Amino acid sequence: MKALIIEDDPNLIKAVLLALRARWPQSTVVSVAEGNKGVEAVEAESPDVVILDLGLPDTDGLDVLHQIRLFSNVPIIIITVRSEEIDRLRGLELGADDYLVKPFSYLELVARVNALLRRVSVDNFGTSAGTTLTIGDLTINSNSQEVFLEGNPIKLTPIQYRLLHCLASNAGHVVTHATLVSKVWGDEEVEIGDDSLKVHIHYLRKKLGDKTWSPDRIITVPGVGYRFKK
Ligand code: CA
Repeated sequence: MKALIIEDDPNLIKAVLLALRARWPQSTVVSVAEGNKGVEAVEAESPDVVILDLGLPDTDGLDVLHQIRLFSNVPIIIITVRSEEIDRLRGLELGADDYLVKPFSYLELVARVNALLRRVSVDNFGTSAGTTLTIGDLTINSNSQEVFLEGNPIKLTPIQYRLLHCLASNAGHVVTHATLVSKVWGDEEVEIGDDSLKVHIHYLRKKLGDKTWSPDRIITVPGVGYRFKK
């Protein structure tokens, strides 16, 4: 996870950095103190999320927001001392995704960042692989999230759908346990053990008419992951 903080208060930068690192120990946090540098940094660093202060020394944060939105859909959270409704609305109108008024709780900030990251991963999930994926008698429509087996619709839970989509779009290749967990459950640090994954795969196989002991769609690669047979 990479975050960009556009903020001129060093204490606040430090606190945000600590909060993000506590939640995402592997995260990269870039900070700049000026608006213009912030716009450049969005382009240069491609962050996953931007935390933007409205009161900046060189430009108004709302201008910075506007500039960023001309070329990027990166999730942006505004932080500001301004609490007037008009600023809040203006920020959202200009394309901010969320808004926190100083002083705010760092746990709250982390929760908001998390929500945005999850939303983005779900959105990308639905659109990344085009529209229809067909493997033999199986058809997956990634826009409507419908799955058909020999032309008949099959009902999957959201997790089963994501598992299937991830495996089928990598058909012929092994998808590791770790990749499956991160694609299906997102960035959330939930404990998804191999056993839990096994259970989900078991039910997915059942719905696909696959036999647990000699599956011919979802092949177990022991100790590594799963491979969807082409
Ligand atoms: Ca400021």
